[in-house]
Amino acid sequence: MKLVILDRDGVINVDSDRFIKSPEEWRAIPGSLEAIATLNQSGFRVVVATNQSGIGRGLLDMAAFNAINDKLTRQLAQAGGRIDAIFYCPHAADAHCECRKPQPGMLHEIGRRFNSDLKDIPAIGDSLRDLQAAHAVGALPILVTTGKGKLTLKEGALPEPTLIFDDLSAAARRLTS
Ligand SMILES: [Zn+2]
Repeated sequence: MKLVILDRDGVINVDSDRFIKSPEEWRAIPGSLEAIATLNQSGFRVVVATNQSGIGRGLLDMAAFNAINDKLTRQLAQAGGRIDAIFYCPHAADAHCECRKPQPGMLHEIGRRFNSDLKDIPAIGDSLRDLQAAHAVGALPILVTTGKGKLTLKEGALPEPTLIFDDLSAAARRLTS
């Protein structure tokens, strides 16, 4: 099975240091929804793994989180794309859970749910912790320089091998070529 794992904020949508707390604050990065549709058309199942510590910190509740994901899903459907599942970690950093990236808990859960060993499965993110979680499970870390990606690239110390692309569109073109 062809599977690809995406971070959400900074990869699919414009990120915010103040968290994405409402559907109004959610804006797709140009081309990202079409990129997901391209992946789907090439036989990829697309799943999201996203840290959402704003939930644990009380900045948004589950109703708001679900409404944001509904907006994503609706706009994606209009672009002809589909996400199979959204995995999220609601915990604050100080909860020391097993799911908050760079911990690999969400990715292990995806592997179980989709019956995949995750080996060389593309995992696309804009933060070092996305790449570290991917590396920890034997997936293929891919950095996009949208969101925090430029800063991540500048700070370096990326796991080997990490592929680097300008945005999700460019990554999807490579994965489907
Ligand atoms: Zn967690």
